Amino acid sequence: MPAHGRDPILIAGGGPTGLALALKLGLADVPCVVLESESALTHDLRAGSFHPPTLEMLADLGLEEAMHARGLKVPVWQIRDRIEGVIAEFDLSMLSDVTQFPYRLHLEQHRLTPLLLGRIQDAAPSITVRFNAPVSKVEQDADGVTVQAGGESYRGSFLAGCDGAKSVVRQAVNISFDGFTWPERFLVASTTFDLATVGFAGAGYVADPEHWAAVFRVPDEGPPGLWRIAYGTDPDEPEADVLASNAIQKRLKIILQHAIPGAGDFTLKYASTYRVHQRVADQFHAGRIALAGDAAHINNPLGGFGLNGSIHDAVNLGEKLIEIWHNGADYRTLLDLYDRQRRPINIKAVQAMSIRNKRLLDEKDPTIRKASLNEVRATATTPDKARAYLLNSSMINSVRDAAAIR
Ligand SMILES: Cc1cc2nc3c(=O)[nH]c(=O)nc-3n(C[C@H](O)[C@H](O)[C@H](O)COP(=O)(O)OP(=O)(O)OC[C@H]3O[C@@H](n4cnc5c(N)ncnc54)[C@H](O)[C@@H]3O)c2cc1C
Repeated sequence: MPAHGRDPILIAGGGPTGLALALKLGLADVPCVVLESESALTHDLRAGSFHPPTLEMLADLGLEEAMHARGLKVPVWQIRDRIEGVIAEFDLSMLSDVTQFPYRLHLEQHRLTPLLLGRIQDAAPSITVRFNAPVSKVEQDADGVTVQAGGESYRGSFLAGCDGAKSVVRQAVNISFDGFTWPERFLVASTTFDLATVGFAGAGYVADPEHWAAVFRVPDEGPPGLWRIAYGTDPDEPEADVLASNAIQKRLKIILQHAIPGAGDFTLKYASTYRVHQRVADQFHAGRIALAGDAAHINNPLGGFGLNGSIHDAVNLGEKLIEIWHNGADYRTLLDLYDRQRRPINIKAVQAMSIRNKRLLDEKDPTIRKASLNEVRATATTPDKARAYLLNSSMINSVRDAAAIR
């Protein structure tokens, strides 16, 4: 057992947040143990879009080359109307004076986590990753934290709850997770049909009161990649019906009707549904226990903020824990600062923007709908406004704003 007060940092959850935090700590020689409930990295289809500040942070962790070798650069994204076609195009190249990565990089999170784990194994010997270790019980005292996981007891100086939306850690410290759940489930399907050939940019949002959608190109075994299409489903329709192949084909033809009139069946590679929430933890730390990623906040995927904000948490929290570990900084002060920097920003930026994006796409009132789309059109064609919009939607402003909080 290490000396009093120098037990390793424990991390519950080996998803993107937990592994990014572990890598950040490991590169600074801070010992840490990651406890992951599954027997291997999870492989389900989730987030797949990295914004410029996240790319900067992951480049600092040594992942620039590996991510770029596998990902797709997407500088331009569109807002479309399902009937009219392109309403607005935004080009992130406009921000090349403020970021070295003026584009989104599309790379699914199940392709990021092996890169994080590989880098931990290669460059961060102070990190241990335990699989089959579901955290089941958490207790803290004045000197540290005791965690039960997979039949073993672990003692740590701090615990980071990076164990996802249903966080056991968050529940163990009784932090509430208020917000709401959208009534409709989201369905995400992927097709090999190359939507670039019919005018789609690598990322696009299609507005329609009923048949709105988000359309994204992601890497596949080879060009042209796969196209992921996410849309809302009728809350009253049974799961099996919305996932039926003919139902998905019918819906894709409606969504893509303007771009591909009279389309035949699409080759589908994948389809699944999921529930979508807007929730933020009441506090991001309690004593020696901090929350990060989906354990701390969840939002709808429109804008691609969930995973990006989670990595921003991991890096911010990692900086604080390094300062505490190496320089003996007061943990209460720094974890309070983590809370002040990350929690209000999530509410002000991520929650607000993702809800606004959904309203823009699915607005039913024709007058509001027309006004909103006109406003987006005017924003995209006015350089100052386009730049301001891009600074927010790329999350550059939220990272800057957080850093300015002391
Ligand atoms: C179906 C789906 C689709 C999504 N699509 C998008 C999208 O298109 N765009 C977007 O931006 N975001 C999307 N998100 C959100 C995005 O995937 C998350 O923001 C991201 O996964 C957060 O990473 P995380 O590491 O915090 O949590 P997770 O990825 O959930 O990782 C948590 C890890 O903790 C482990 N774990 C759980 N409980 C325990 C325990 N008790 N003990 C130990 N380990 C535990 C889990 O096995 C997992 O490995 C989606 C989420 C879902 C569920």
